[in-house]
Amino acid sequence: MNEYCRWASKELVPTKDPGQPEFHQAVEEVLESVAPVLDAHSEYRQARILERLVEPERVIMFRVPWVDDRGEIQVNRGFRVQMNSAIGPYKGGLRLHPSVNLSIIKFLAFEQVFKNALTTLPMGGAKGGSDFNPKGKSDNEVMRFCQSFMTELYRHIGPDTDVPAGDIGVGGREIGYLWGQYKRLRNEFTGALTGKGTAWGGSLIRPEATGYGVVYIATEYLATKGESLEGKTCLVSGSGNVAQYTVEKLLDLGAKPVTLSDSSGYIYDESGITREKLAFVMRLKNVMRGRISEYVSKYPEAVYQEADPTLGYNPLWSHPADCAFPSATQNEINDRDAAHMLREGVHLVAEGANMPTTPGAIENLADGGAVIIPAKAANAGGVAVSGLEMSQNSMRIAWTREEVDARLQGIMKEIFTTITVAAERYGLENDLIAGANIAGFLKVANAMMDQGVV
Ligand code: NDP
Repeated sequence: MNEYCRWASKELVPTKDPGQPEFHQAVEEVLESVAPVLDAHSEYRQARILERLVEPERVIMFRVPWVDDRGEIQVNRGFRVQMNSAIGPYKGGLRLHPSVNLSIIKFLAFEQVFKNALTTLPMGGAKGGSDFNPKGKSDNEVMRFCQSFMTELYRHIGPDTDVPAGDIGVGGREIGYLWGQYKRLRNEFTGALTGKGTAWGGSLIRPEATGYGVVYIATEYLATKGESLEGKTCLVSGSGNVAQYTVEKLLDLGAKPVTLSDSSGYIYDESGITREKLAFVMRLKNVMRGRISEYVSKYPEAVYQEADPTLGYNPLWSHPADCAFPSATQNEINDRDAAHMLREGVHLVAEGANMPTTPGAIENLADGGAVIIPAKAANAGGVAVSGLEMSQNSMRIAWTREEVDARLQGIMKEIFTTITVAAERYGLENDLIAGANIAGFLKVANAMMDQGVV
């Protein structure tokens, strides 16, 4: 890393934003990659592009009071970080999870800027959410929370300003409640949120898009080695939206997924998670809102292991496999997990979750010859189809499933080419993390240069 990038990531950001480790980690990863670009182009430095990129255009934090089913008042904190709008209206998901804080939302918003730039669609980057925990809440409680959250957020969003979507803890149910309240407050039927139901403006394939996209881009990479997913054993973490549709597409392409998890533990099904078993998981998670441990009651050939934070590694990553698809949360693969993966034969990690691999794990995997397709590229299919939902809303039409899926495949193919070419241009073949960071950075930085000091 050059002096300028080192200063920005090790001094400027930590001094200005103390206590935001996830944000520091995300910034450092990008700045490390773009150092050769800044060496070659002093104009970005003169225009203070880095200093501007790490400073959100706007941070909104607000109180979210709501009344639970016992009549007691609860108070949560809401966030929306509008990071960068150089190439389009702000776009990025909303996360509802007790771990949510400003550092996590800023890291996600920062990542989103570069990810959205890679999609080929005109979208700036933002992220939001709340420390509200949807687990164990009734539908009515979730609705009252969402209505209160939107009662503040609606002032800051809109189809040409900022278009939120789902993320951890925000699926179809939550988007419905949020959008209902937005429509009531604005008295407008517009595409101000994506991930909507198909009867009221949603796009077909949006629920599937992130998981499908991860598998499509993995296929693109494997094709360059003359390989396919057919017959490959795959480790998948999480059991939410991204994990479910990753498994579905892996099965379509003849792979054998063997693991799934939630925050309580994971299941290992050596015989493979079949379509029937996946249908059970979808019902369990999306309708019954149950725990992954229930998989082994239904399918006793599988084993369940409870999460044990004292272990220092996640045994999910210690099973023999060819490919890994982390699809739960940030920093879920550490350096010990990376060593176990290499030992067990994993040579491709396609990141469904955002920043799932720690810096130490990235280093270990790369040293061991494994390739990582970073989240910015690998999980960009979700926001890409959200962009397609915005286009359909603007045109007031609805494309067929086949049309959206074909566009998604085309976008994932183009992203793979873009990041590969960017990596090669700077002599970093096989470093797809650098390729994604460089390509995303160049698009945003050039737009910022064009638009002057704003
Ligand atoms: P969901 O809420 O649908 O599922 C999240 C899954 O991950 C659940 O199984 C959850 O378990 C598990 N999980 C969440 N937090 C933790 C944690 N701290 N430790 C262990 N397990 C955890 O979310 P998504 O599938 O939508 O999101 C998963 C990842 O993909 C996130 O990193 C998200 O940012 C990313 N992503 C999602 C996109 C989308 O379109 N949905 C788009 C791009 C990226 P539990 O239920 O026990 O909490």
